[in-house]
Amino acid sequence: MGLPLWLWHIFVFLVGLCVGSFLNVVVYRLPLGRSLVFSRSGCLTCGAQIAWYDNIPLLSFVVLGGRCRLCKAKISWQYPAVELVTGLLFLVALLTFGPTRQGLAHLILLGALVVLSVIDIKSYTLPDKITLPGIFFGILVVPWLTAPSFVPYEIITAYREAFVGSALGGWLLFLVGALGDWAFRKESMGGGDIKLAGMIGAFLGWKMVILTFLLASALGALGGVLTMLIRGWKKGTMIPFGPYLALGAGIGVFYGEEIWLALVQFAGG
Ligand SMILES: [Zn+2]
Repeated sequence: MGLPLWLWHIFVFLVGLCVGSFLNVVVYRLPLGRSLVFSRSGCLTCGAQIAWYDNIPLLSFVVLGGRCRLCKAKISWQYPAVELVTGLLFLVALLTFGPTRQGLAHLILLGALVVLSVIDIKSYTLPDKITLPGIFFGILVVPWLTAPSFVPYEIITAYREAFVGSALGGWLLFLVGALGDWAFRKESMGGGDIKLAGMIGAFLGWKMVILTFLLASALGALGGVLTMLIRGWKKGTMIPFGPYLALGAGIGVFYGEEIWLALVQFAGG
């Protein structure tokens, strides 16, 4: 590339912002079954079409003061937050993995995790429309992206890793869910969480899906306690587990190898 490095970084960050803008569209339209590409975005309150200059990631939100230009209805913080997070993920992924096939696989996973987290926070569901294609893509395509080279032995190893990771992730969540149902006499783990863990395992393999589960449980417990302290304990409060799995997987993508080695050393004394 003839570009100076810092310009290249800014470019990747801007691409991430635009992808984040698209992920916001997916979050809103996918649960409604609407087309993701063939229609312009409108204001959720007054329905007015949003002009291109009011649809620039991050910038438009700041310029408009977080309100619709026409009806002045507040625009959700979700929009700039998803854009910024996706932009930063693209930048950090480039800095960590470089422009590689593996980096691409991680970005696809991270994008899906952003969308699933926001949908789970908003509606306590993890749509099959994302997790099931995610599992198939993870098992069928990701081995070609993560194998160090296209030597048959390495491709086969990568396929085995994806398959074992996916199965282990799904079973882990299924068993913990069954145990939780028995212990608390109510459904503790949704089917969506099981499929999400299957998807993460397909992308990241068996070690990282175990690490994801451990991190998600620890962060989930912490988040649960904080939620109770801030909002007070109410019976039947639902805490979605999907965002914690996503967070655990995100940490696994960037710091997983180091944390795994530290855990193994710790367990080995
Ligand atoms: Zn409006």
